[in-house]
Amino acid sequence: MNAFWIDSIKEIKSNGELKEDTSADVCVIGAGISGITTAYYLIKKGYNTIILDRNKIGYGVTGYTTAKITSQHNLIYHYLSKQYGIKFAKKYYEANEEAIKNIEETIKENSIDCDFEIKDNYIYTVNEENIEKINEEAESLKYINMNAEKVEKSELPFKIRKGIVFKNQAQFNPLKYLEGLVGYILNRGGRIYTNSLCTDIKRKDNEYHVKANGVILATQYPFLKVPGFYFAKMYQASSYIIGIETKNELPKDMYLSIDEPNFSFRTAKNLLLIGGAGHKTGNKVDYNQTYGILEKKAKELYPDCNIKYFWSTRDAITLDKIPYVGEYSNLMPNMYIMTGFNKWGMTSSNVTANIVVDKITGGSSIYEEIFKSTRYKPIVNKDESKNMLIDSTKSLLLDRIKAENIEVEDVKSDSGAIVDIDGTKVGIYKDKTGKNHYIKPVCTHLGCILEWNDADKTWDCPCHGSRYDKFGKNIYDPAIKNLEVFDFKD
Ligand SMILES: Cc1cc2nc3c(=O)[nH]c(=O)nc-3n(C[C@H](O)[C@H](O)[C@H](O)COP(=O)(O)OP(=O)(O)OC[C@H]3O[C@@H](n4cnc5c(N)ncnc54)[C@H](O)[C@@H]3O)c2cc1C
Repeated sequence: MNAFWIDSIKEIKSNGELKEDTSADVCVIGAGISGITTAYYLIKKGYNTIILDRNKIGYGVTGYTTAKITSQHNLIYHYLSKQYGIKFAKKYYEANEEAIKNIEETIKENSIDCDFEIKDNYIYTVNEENIEKINEEAESLKYINMNAEKVEKSELPFKIRKGIVFKNQAQFNPLKYLEGLVGYILNRGGRIYTNSLCTDIKRKDNEYHVKANGVILATQYPFLKVPGFYFAKMYQASSYIIGIETKNELPKDMYLSIDEPNFSFRTAKNLLLIGGAGHKTGNKVDYNQTYGILEKKAKELYPDCNIKYFWSTRDAITLDKIPYVGEYSNLMPNMYIMTGFNKWGMTSSNVTANIVVDKITGGSSIYEEIFKSTRYKPIVNKDESKNMLIDSTKSLLLDRIKAENIEVEDVKSDSGAIVDIDGTKVGIYKDKTGKNHYIKPVCTHLGCILEWNDADKTWDCPCHGSRYDKFGKNIYDPAIKNLEVFDFKD
């Protein structure tokens, strides 16, 4: 199902598909919030900029986000202070606070009607055992955000044990915001080509379709593998969102629990968006483990509610919880990357756009070192490393994967499974008419074995989060090719 944001506007205008060779000062790949924001700043500085997207504008993660604009990125400041020092943590905070101001300023400057509202943002726990985590976070915040306050009550329709509020944060409709930026870009000669998949970036002049002095990868997760090796430093995590209508009064601020299962709340017009049920992309999940958890919560809190929207998306998670921004690799000059937003891309995209634009235009940013893409830091975050490694290694060889212990005829209607057919592992999707659709369940990115996601009816990769529709068409990066389809007769 479409996200509320996508349904709330007409398709954002672009220059359509790229159908000829062309050139620009800078080519931005990706028309989500990070690519569009970067292009906006480049055009403001007079750079001839072109944007390419494989899909429509905003149809990546940005169109399916929750769109809270906050510097409170879950529990982060105690972790950053402990690992890298208070100064580092404070800079991370300041960079994201500056991003909130930049977004507000941009909206005002361009009179963008995007339902931007100043809100407070809370993290909270309902569990006794998580109170200490809130206390630690609050302790570190004393040196970072003097205005952060510990709270023991909220307007949520249940009792919280403890929380922390950041005042003067914000929320908006991310696609209406993009529409405003796109208007600016197109009016000043920028070009945005949609349905234009970028498959390679080469330095040889005669192989360019788009010639540019600088290239920015704003594709959420890079489709390029080497150099860079970002696939070895990030995994993808999915979450689910429902939009409900209720006659009850809605909480007016933004909330995120730190518990398991965790829940996120914000309003969007007359809807309450409830998010959560997160898992590593590519884990085998069904409705009850995803939307079902959110639906149960919604009915428990608002028994009269009607669920109007269901959607999901995923984001790139870095092992040290900090985005990668700057040069793509020491071996590829004039090529830049912005990725690994850890589900906090509304502010992070603005921070990263400014860092990269400063670099391209010969300036420098005080935040560049914090987010440096070519950094090497020992991996201190053991939980995330485990997340990254376990399914990835398990999934690498098809021969070692056990088919599910079922026969072709046992696959349920409108569902999928990997079965063994004469010694070959085959992915089957059985459609509602009973017809089977066969694919080779091997990701076209790096050869990992796919899992069936019964909540979204997709084939998902547990290694790097590529996703394919039920018939094997590639819908999300980093893979760019469709799955091999088998033409077996039923
Ligand atoms: C469930 C969920 C909730 C979230 N909620 C919040 C929130 O409340 N606040 C917050 O700050 N962040 C949130 N985030 C994170 C935030 O939504 C993302 O970090 C952000 O939208 C990423 O933007 P992007 O522009 O980098 O990526 P995208 O929006 O995915 O844009 C990348 C674009 O690149 C294009 N592309 C990819 N590969 C190619 C290619 N080879 N050729 C051409 N085009 C290509 C894609 O089509 C896409 O349009 C959330 C994330 C999730 C998963």
